[in-house]
Amino acid sequence: MTGTLFDVAPLERPARAPRVDVVLPAPRRPDPVDDRPQQAAARAAGVPHLTDWTRDRRPDGDPARRVAFYLGCHQPRWLETAPVPLFIAAQRLAAYRRRGEDMPRPYTPYAIDSGGFTELSKHGMWTLSEDEYGGMITRFMLDMGPPRFVAPQDWMCEPWIVAKTGLSVEIHQELTVENYLYLTREFPHVPWIPVLQGWQLADYARHVEAYAAAGIDLADEPLVGLGSVCRREATAEIGAIVTALHGMGIRMHGFGVKRAGFTRYGHLLESADSLAWSFGARRRQIRLPDCTHAAEDCRNCLTYALTWRETTLNGLRHPKGAEDPHQTALRLDATA
Ligand SMILES: [Zn+2]
Repeated sequence: MTGTLFDVAPLERPARAPRVDVVLPAPRRPDPVDDRPQQAAARAAGVPHLTDWTRDRRPDGDPARRVAFYLGCHQPRWLETAPVPLFIAAQRLAAYRRRGEDMPRPYTPYAIDSGGFTELSKHGMWTLSEDEYGGMITRFMLDMGPPRFVAPQDWMCEPWIVAKTGLSVEIHQELTVENYLYLTREFPHVPWIPVLQGWQLADYARHVEAYAAAGIDLADEPLVGLGSVCRREATAEIGAIVTALHGMGIRMHGFGVKRAGFTRYGHLLESADSLAWSFGARRRQIRLPDCTHAAEDCRNCLTYALTWRETTLNGLRHPKGAEDPHQTALRLDATA
Protein backbone atom coordinates (compact mmCIF):
# COMPACT_ATOMS: atom_id res chain seq x y z
CA MET A 1 0.00 0.00 0.00
CA THR A 2 1.35 3.41 -0.91
CA GLY A 3 0.42 6.96 -0.14
CA THR A 4 -0.06 6.50 3.62
CA LEU A 5 1.12 8.93 6.16
CA PHE A 6 4.16 6.78 6.79
CA ASP A 7 5.20 6.36 3.21
CA VAL A 8 7.93 8.91 3.15
CA ALA A 9 11.34 8.76 1.66
CA PRO A 10 14.09 8.04 4.20
CA LEU A 11 16.18 11.01 5.20
CA GLU A 12 19.21 11.35 3.08
CA ARG A 13 22.40 11.58 5.00
CA PRO A 14 24.60 14.31 3.68
CA ALA A 15 27.86 12.88 2.40
CA ARG A 16 29.79 15.30 4.59
CA ALA A 17 28.88 17.21 7.67
CA PRO A 18 27.57 20.62 6.61
CA ARG A 19 30.08 23.38 6.92
CA VAL A 20 29.31 25.75 9.78
CA ASP A 21 30.86 29.15 9.42
CA VAL A 22 31.42 31.27 12.47
CA VAL A 23 30.19 34.66 11.38
CA LEU A 24 31.61 37.52 13.36
CA PRO A 25 31.64 41.18 12.47
CA ALA A 26 34.95 42.26 11.02
CA PRO A 27 37.28 44.03 13.43
CA ARG A 28 36.83 47.75 13.24
CA ARG A 29 39.05 50.65 13.93
CA PRO A 30 37.72 52.82 16.72
CA ASP A 31 35.32 55.35 15.27
CA PRO A 32 33.29 58.20 16.70
CA VAL A 33 30.08 57.24 18.45
CA ASP A 34 27.21 59.19 19.85
CA ASP A 35 28.18 59.36 23.51
CA ARG A 36 25.19 61.27 24.85
CA PRO A 37 23.81 58.20 26.70
CA GLN A 38 27.24 57.64 28.23
CA GLN A 39 27.47 61.22 29.40
CA ALA A 40 24.01 60.91 30.92
CA ALA A 41 25.11 57.74 32.73
CA ALA A 42 28.19 59.59 33.98
CA ARG A 43 26.04 62.31 35.51
CA ALA A 44 23.86 59.63 37.09
CA ALA A 45 27.03 58.09 38.58
CA GLY A 46 27.81 61.43 40.21
CA VAL A 47 30.62 62.46 37.87
CA PRO A 48 29.88 65.85 36.31
CA HIS A 49 31.54 65.15 32.97
CA LEU A 50 33.31 62.20 31.43
CA THR A 51 35.97 62.59 28.83
CA ASP A 52 34.68 61.10 25.65
CA TRP A 53 36.70 58.05 24.71
CA THR A 54 36.61 58.76 21.00
CA ARG A 55 39.59 60.36 19.38
CA ASP A 56 39.20 64.04 18.76
CA ARG A 57 41.02 64.91 15.57
CA ARG A 58 40.57 68.65 15.75
CA PRO A 59 44.04 70.17 16.08
CA ASP A 60 42.92 72.57 18.78
CA GLY A 61 40.68 70.04 20.52
CA ASP A 62 40.75 68.64 24.00
CA PRO A 63 44.15 66.93 24.50
CA ALA A 64 42.57 64.34 26.78
CA ARG A 65 40.26 63.25 23.98
CA ARG A 66 43.11 62.35 21.67
CA VAL A 67 43.74 59.15 23.59
CA ALA A 68 41.15 56.43 24.16
CA PHE A 69 41.47 55.58 27.84
CA TYR A 70 40.17 52.12 28.79
CA LEU A 71 39.33 51.76 32.45
CA GLY A 72 40.78 48.52 33.81
CA CYS A 73 38.18 46.54 35.75
CA HIS A 74 37.65 43.24 37.55
CA GLN A 75 33.89 43.06 37.11
CA PRO A 76 32.57 41.78 33.76
CA ARG A 77 29.10 43.07 34.70
CA TRP A 78 30.39 46.64 34.46
CA LEU A 79 30.38 46.15 30.69
CA GLU A 80 26.63 46.55 30.83
CA THR A 81 26.57 49.89 32.60
CA ALA A 82 29.92 51.69 32.53
CA PRO A 83 29.83 54.92 30.51
CA VAL A 84 33.49 54.57 29.46
CA PRO A 85 35.41 51.84 27.59
CA LEU A 86 36.67 48.99 29.75
CA PHE A 87 39.73 46.77 29.73
CA ILE A 88 39.30 43.32 31.18
CA ALA A 89 41.51 40.26 31.49
CA ALA A 90 40.53 37.07 29.66
CA GLN A 91 40.88 35.16 32.93
CA ARG A 92 38.22 37.34 34.54
CA LEU A 93 35.81 36.57 31.73
CA ALA A 94 36.70 32.86 31.88
CA ALA A 95 36.07 32.74 35.63
CA TYR A 96 32.74 34.43 35.08
CA ARG A 97 31.79 31.79 32.53
CA ARG A 98 32.85 28.95 34.85
CA ARG A 99 30.47 30.22 37.51
CA GLY A 100 27.65 29.67 35.01
CA GLU A 101 26.54 33.28 34.87
CA ASP A 102 25.21 34.78 31.67
CA MET A 103 27.96 36.64 29.92
CA PRO A 104 27.47 40.39 29.96
CA ARG A 105 25.99 42.19 26.95
CA PRO A 106 28.41 45.08 26.58
CA TYR A 107 26.97 48.54 26.33
CA THR A 108 30.40 50.07 26.22
CA PRO A 109 33.39 49.40 23.95
CA TYR A 110 35.79 46.96 25.54
CA ALA A 111 39.16 45.32 24.97
CA ILE A 112 40.57 42.07 26.32
CA ASP A 113 43.90 41.68 28.06
CA SER A 114 45.68 38.33 27.94
CA GLY A 115 46.56 38.44 31.65
CA GLY A 116 50.07 37.44 30.66
CA PHE A 117 51.77 39.12 33.58
CA THR A 118 49.79 37.03 36.07
CA GLU A 119 50.33 33.89 34.02
CA LEU A 120 54.09 34.26 33.59
CA SER A 121 54.79 35.51 37.10
CA LYS A 122 52.84 32.60 38.59
CA HIS A 123 53.84 29.76 36.29
CA GLY A 124 56.86 30.98 34.32
CA MET A 125 55.01 29.98 31.16
CA TRP A 126 51.64 30.10 29.46
CA THR A 127 49.40 27.33 30.78
CA LEU A 128 46.88 27.80 27.96
CA SER A 129 47.85 26.65 24.46
CA GLU A 130 47.37 29.07 21.56
CA ASP A 131 44.36 27.06 20.42
CA GLU A 132 42.78 27.11 23.86
CA TYR A 133 43.33 30.85 24.13
CA GLY A 134 42.06 31.61 20.60
CA GLY A 135 39.04 29.35 21.14
CA MET A 136 38.25 31.00 24.46
CA ILE A 137 38.38 34.49 22.93
CA THR A 138 36.17 33.33 20.03
CA ARG A 139 33.60 32.10 22.52
CA PHE A 140 33.64 35.42 24.38
CA MET A 141 33.11 37.23 21.09
CA LEU A 142 30.16 35.03 20.19
CA ASP A 143 28.59 35.71 23.58
CA MET A 144 29.48 39.35 24.00
CA GLY A 145 30.09 40.85 20.58
CA PRO A 146 33.41 41.98 19.18
CA PRO A 147 35.94 43.77 21.36
CA ARG A 148 37.93 46.72 20.06
CA PHE A 149 41.12 44.66 20.28
CA VAL A 150 42.55 41.61 22.02
CA ALA A 151 46.09 41.13 23.33
CA PRO A 152 47.83 37.94 22.18
CA GLN A 153 49.75 35.66 24.57
CA ASP A 154 52.76 37.90 24.78
CA TRP A 155 55.89 37.39 26.86
CA MET A 156 56.74 40.35 29.11
CA CYS A 157 60.39 41.28 29.53
CA GLU A 158 60.61 42.67 33.05
CA PRO A 159 63.89 41.29 34.50
CA TRP A 160 62.01 39.40 37.23
CA ILE A 161 59.72 37.78 34.65
CA VAL A 162 62.67 36.82 32.44
CA ALA A 163 64.29 35.30 35.57
CA LYS A 164 61.10 33.37 36.28
CA THR A 165 60.86 31.82 32.80
CA GLY A 166 64.61 31.16 32.59
CA LEU A 167 64.60 32.43 28.99
CA SER A 168 66.21 35.50 27.47
CA VAL A 169 64.65 38.79 26.35
CA GLU A 170 65.35 37.71 22.75
CA ILE A 171 63.47 34.44 23.21
CA HIS A 172 60.55 36.27 24.87
CA GLN A 173 60.39 38.55 21.84
CA GLU A 174 60.55 35.65 19.43
CA LEU A 175 57.79 33.77 21.25
CA THR A 176 55.64 36.93 21.23
CA VAL A 177 55.94 37.29 17.44
CA GLU A 178 55.31 33.56 16.90
CA ASN A 179 52.20 33.65 19.03
CA TYR A 180 50.83 36.68 17.18
CA LEU A 181 51.45 35.05 13.80
CA TYR A 182 49.74 31.85 14.91
CA LEU A 183 46.70 33.56 16.40
CA THR A 184 46.17 35.87 13.44
CA ARG A 185 46.41 32.90 11.05
CA GLU A 186 44.19 30.47 12.98
CA PHE A 187 41.73 32.94 14.49
CA PRO A 188 41.52 35.70 11.87
CA HIS A 189 38.10 36.91 13.08
CA VAL A 190 39.66 38.17 16.36
CA PRO A 191 41.05 41.74 16.35
CA TRP A 192 44.50 40.79 17.70
CA ILE A 193 47.10 43.51 18.08
CA PRO A 194 50.84 42.86 17.83
CA VAL A 195 52.64 43.63 21.10
CA LEU A 196 56.13 45.05 21.46
CA GLN A 197 58.19 43.71 24.33
CA GLY A 198 61.63 44.58 25.61
CA TRP A 199 63.41 46.31 28.43
CA GLN A 200 66.00 48.71 26.98
CA LEU A 201 65.16 51.01 24.10
CA ALA A 202 67.44 48.90 21.85
CA ASP A 203 65.33 45.80 22.72
CA TYR A 204 62.17 47.48 21.46
CA ALA A 205 63.91 48.61 18.27
CA ARG A 206 65.08 45.04 17.69
CA HIS A 207 61.55 43.74 18.25
CA VAL A 208 60.21 46.16 15.62
CA GLU A 209 62.74 44.64 13.21
CA ALA A 210 61.73 41.10 14.19
CA TYR A 211 58.12 41.90 13.26
CA ALA A 212 59.33 43.41 9.97
CA ALA A 213 61.33 40.23 9.23
CA ALA A 214 58.09 38.28 9.77
CA GLY A 215 56.35 40.51 7.20
CA ILE A 216 54.62 42.86 9.64
CA ASP A 217 55.32 46.58 9.33
CA LEU A 218 54.16 47.87 12.70
CA ALA A 219 53.72 51.39 11.32
CA ASP A 220 50.95 49.97 9.11
CA GLU A 221 49.04 48.42 12.02
CA PRO A 222 46.08 50.36 13.43
CA LEU A 223 47.27 49.62 16.96
CA VAL A 224 50.36 48.07 18.57
CA GLY A 225 50.52 47.12 22.24
CA LEU A 226 53.46 48.45 24.24
CA GLY A 227 54.41 45.91 26.89
CA SER A 228 56.73 45.79 29.89
CA VAL A 229 56.42 49.49 30.63
CA CYS A 230 53.79 49.63 33.31
CA ARG A 231 55.57 48.17 36.30
CA ARG A 232 58.82 50.04 36.10
CA GLU A 233 59.37 53.18 38.09
CA ALA A 234 61.58 55.16 35.71
CA THR A 235 59.02 57.20 33.80
CA ALA A 236 61.78 59.12 31.96
CA GLU A 237 63.02 55.84 30.50
CA ILE A 238 59.50 54.90 29.41
CA GLY A 239 59.11 58.38 27.92
CA ALA A 240 62.23 57.84 25.78
CA ILE A 241 60.92 54.48 24.53
CA VAL A 242 57.46 55.85 23.75
CA THR A 243 58.94 58.88 21.99
CA ALA A 244 61.21 56.73 19.82
CA LEU A 245 58.43 54.33 18.81
CA HIS A 246 56.05 57.20 18.15
CA GLY A 247 58.75 58.68 15.92
CA MET A 248 58.69 55.45 13.88
CA GLY A 249 55.01 56.07 13.18
CA ILE A 250 53.78 53.29 15.48
CA ARG A 251 50.32 53.83 16.97
CA MET A 252 50.56 52.49 20.50
CA HIS A 253 48.34 51.18 23.24
CA GLY A 254 50.05 51.63 26.62
CA PHE A 255 49.28 48.63 28.83
CA GLY A 256 48.67 49.42 32.49
CA VAL A 257 49.96 52.98 32.51
CA LYS A 258 50.63 54.82 35.75
CA ARG A 259 49.30 58.30 36.25
CA ALA A 260 52.70 60.02 36.47
CA GLY A 261 53.90 58.38 33.28
CA PHE A 262 50.63 58.94 31.48
CA THR A 263 50.80 62.69 32.17
CA ARG A 264 54.26 62.70 30.64
CA TYR A 265 53.82 60.56 27.51
CA GLY A 266 50.08 59.95 27.19
CA HIS A 267 49.78 62.42 24.30
CA LEU A 268 51.96 60.06 22.22
CA LEU A 269 49.60 57.10 22.68
CA GLU A 270 46.54 56.13 20.70
CA SER A 271 45.05 54.43 23.71
CA ALA A 272 45.90 53.27 27.21
CA ASP A 273 44.42 51.31 30.07
CA SER A 274 44.91 51.27 33.82
CA LEU A 275 43.78 49.42 36.92
CA ALA A 276 45.91 51.64 39.16
CA TRP A 277 42.76 53.16 40.68
CA SER A 278 41.82 49.80 42.24
CA PHE A 279 45.27 49.07 43.68
CA GLY A 280 45.42 52.63 45.02
CA ALA A 281 41.98 52.41 46.66
CA ARG A 282 42.93 49.14 48.34
CA ARG A 283 46.40 50.22 49.45
CA ARG A 284 45.30 53.59 50.74
CA GLN A 285 41.89 52.47 52.03
CA ILE A 286 40.08 55.08 49.96
CA ARG A 287 36.33 55.33 50.36
CA LEU A 288 34.29 58.16 48.86
CA PRO A 289 32.10 59.88 51.45
CA ASP A 290 28.83 59.13 49.63
CA CYS A 291 29.53 55.48 48.88
CA THR A 292 27.05 52.97 50.25
CA HIS A 293 28.68 49.70 49.11
CA ALA A 294 29.40 46.99 51.67
CA ALA A 295 33.09 46.83 50.85
CA GLU A 296 35.22 48.97 53.15
CA ASP A 297 37.14 50.62 50.35
CA CYS A 298 36.47 51.62 46.73
CA ARG A 299 38.67 48.99 45.05
CA ASN A 300 35.64 47.70 43.10
CA CYS A 301 33.67 50.93 42.96
CA LEU A 302 32.67 52.29 39.55
CA THR A 303 32.02 55.78 40.87
CA TYR A 304 35.52 56.01 42.29
CA ALA A 305 37.01 54.43 39.16
CA LEU A 306 35.30 57.00 36.90
CA THR A 307 36.48 59.80 39.11
CA TRP A 308 40.05 58.50 39.04
CA ARG A 309 39.94 58.16 35.27
CA GLU A 310 38.76 61.71 34.77
CA THR A 311 41.42 63.05 37.11
CA THR A 312 44.07 61.08 35.22
CA LEU A 313 42.91 62.47 31.88
CA ASN A 314 43.13 65.93 33.39
CA GLY A 315 46.87 65.34 33.55
CA LEU A 316 46.91 65.75 29.77
CA ARG A 317 44.97 69.01 29.97
CA HIS A 318 46.92 70.54 32.80
CA PRO A 319 50.38 69.03 32.97
CA LYS A 320 52.76 70.23 35.64
CA GLY A 321 50.21 70.98 38.28
CA ALA A 322 48.06 73.56 36.51
CA GLU A 323 44.75 73.97 38.30
CA ASP A 324 41.31 73.38 36.87
CA PRO A 325 38.66 74.67 39.25
CA HIS A 326 36.02 72.38 37.75
CA GLN A 327 38.07 69.35 38.63
CA THR A 328 39.22 70.28 42.13
CA ALA A 329 36.49 68.17 43.65
CA LEU A 330 37.72 65.21 41.66
CA ARG A 331 41.32 65.40 42.81
CA LEU A 332 41.11 62.53 45.22
CA ASP A 333 44.04 60.40 44.36
CA ALA A 334 46.67 62.45 42.65
CA THR A 335 49.61 60.13 43.24
CA ALA A 336 48.40 56.64 42.37
ZN1 LIG B 1 33.02 53.61 46.51
